[in-house]
Amino acid sequence: MTRTGIGYDVHRLVEERPLILGGVELAYHLGLDGHSDADVLCHAIADALLGAVGERDIGYHFPNTDPSIRGISSLEILRRVRDILVARGAKIVNVDATVIAEAPKILPHRDAMIKNIAEALCVEANAIGLKATTNEHLGFIGRGEGIGSMAVASVEV
Ligand code: MG
Repeated sequence: MTRTGIGYDVHRLVEERPLILGGVELAYHLGLDGHSDADVLCHAIADALLGAVGERDIGYHFPNTDPSIRGISSLEILRRVRDILVARGAKIVNVDATVIAEAPKILPHRDAMIKNIAEALCVEANAIGLKATTNEHLGFIGRGEGIGSMAVASVEV
């Protein structure tokens, strides 16, 4: 049986934080705020994968009150999510994600992000779809106050 999950996340852009998306540090004057490295792309993917097997969300499994995961790489979160899926006998079929950001440009880093995500999830790179769009200057993302991401994932159980 194939099952599908959906994930969505937003983090605020602030000063004096690195901007990490898909495990890649991008050159930008702002970074995403959060308890982990705030990699919004990996978080959306993690929630999609957890949702596909009926698990609770990333905030439950990786609470921002847990000091042991402060500053954790979200690629490590993906590795741990994969372990949850493996324990449930689920095999990842594919992931498709979109990053919604006014700036900086995401697509020059697309291949590196896909490589990181695929390695963390132990899947082939062609199992990971990754797109980027802007918010056409509309709303909080359009004003450059944050970056969002959406993802879907399919697994075989
Ligand atoms: Mg998050």
